[in-house]
Amino acid sequence: QRHLLLLTRAGYEGDCAAQVQAVAAEAGVHGFCKAKADTGYLTFIAHDAHALAAWFETLSLDDLIFARQLCLAGEPLDDLPPANRLGPILAALDGQEFGGVYVETPDAEATRPLMRLARQFTKPLEQSMRKRGLLQPGNRELPRLHLTFTDTTTAIPGWSHPGQAAPQPMGIRRLKMAKDAPSRSALKLEEALITFLSPAERKDLLRAGLEAVDLGAAPGGWTWQLVRDGLMVTAVDNGPMAEVLTGHVSVEHRREDGFTFRPERPVEWLVCDMVEKPSRVADLMADWMARGDCQRAIFNLKLPMKKRQQAVMDAVERIAARLEEAEVGFEIDVRQLYHDRDEVTAYLRRVS
Ligand code: SAM
Repeated sequence: QRHLLLLTRAGYEGDCAAQVQAVAAEAGVHGFCKAKADTGYLTFIAHDAHALAAWFETLSLDDLIFARQLCLAGEPLDDLPPANRLGPILAALDGQEFGGVYVETPDAEATRPLMRLARQFTKPLEQSMRKRGLLQPGNRELPRLHLTFTDTTTAIPGWSHPGQAAPQPMGIRRLKMAKDAPSRSALKLEEALITFLSPAERKDLLRAGLEAVDLGAAPGGWTWQLVRDGLMVTAVDNGPMAEVLTGHVSVEHRREDGFTFRPERPVEWLVCDMVEKPSRVADLMADWMARGDCQRAIFNLKLPMKKRQQAVMDAVERIAARLEEAEVGFEIDVRQLYHDRDEVTAYLRRVS
């Protein structure tokens, strides 16, 4: 197998390709990407199958900013007869055993109608595999099967290690918005917290007694998320906060410029959703961290329409340069989350 199959946000195929190639090259794996705009997926084709296999062993979705899902892929299964897709698919599995099954499709205009097919196909496929002894659900010694439909008669078979791919099919984490959430943005921060923190970390790092500053807070979805976890939040925005938050005992609203505001004492969390150039936001985050004003930060980088992957790389480099100069140890993760639109979300924290 020489193909890595990646699902991405439609329109970001080129950015995803550029980043995958950069990460692969760093690992000494050379190849090229096949990607078509607005299809929601792409393949990385390695020149050397052994090098790809070795790299894949170490590869995690966390390394790939724009990828929602990944698997090592085989040749597409074409001309699947709609009346009996199972037959050729089972034959292609060639007796191999799996510990779980993902039936997937790219999240793009052309393939969105296939999501229903993917959902409906999952159970029959699992049952047939079980009958043939090809599926041991939950067995962590076995790989996960991915079957990605690109049209009604074509599916790409692939596999990933347990824990390597996104836990939900297609990497789509659908979250329900609570009735009293002030804005849909609340889901962005919720997804970020689920993605970047383990449940134990979340319990430890988001709790009563800790403080946060939210820059560009209005109408207050992010502030609301943090308050729900028991934090005291200083919400900085010239705009008005939603009614559920005005006068809230855990919220102090400051009508100030987010670029000049500084807390009176250090806080645990800084979050920032201001619509600004990525480089400006990056400098601000690095500055807070370098001065010891916060321990950790979650922020969005709003992406320009061109050279988006480059804009993200530049922002990360600016942060690294500033923190290295200040001799502050740090880690940073950047991902385009399902609830992100033309933006990515970053989690930056101090480490000693
Ligand atoms: N995260 C918010 C939520 O969950 O409801 C949504 C934030 S909205 C995308 C961006 C906000 O940033 C706007 O309310 C805007 O007023 C604010 N903003 C933009 N530039 C700012 C600045 N320089 N200082 C403070 N707020 C700013």
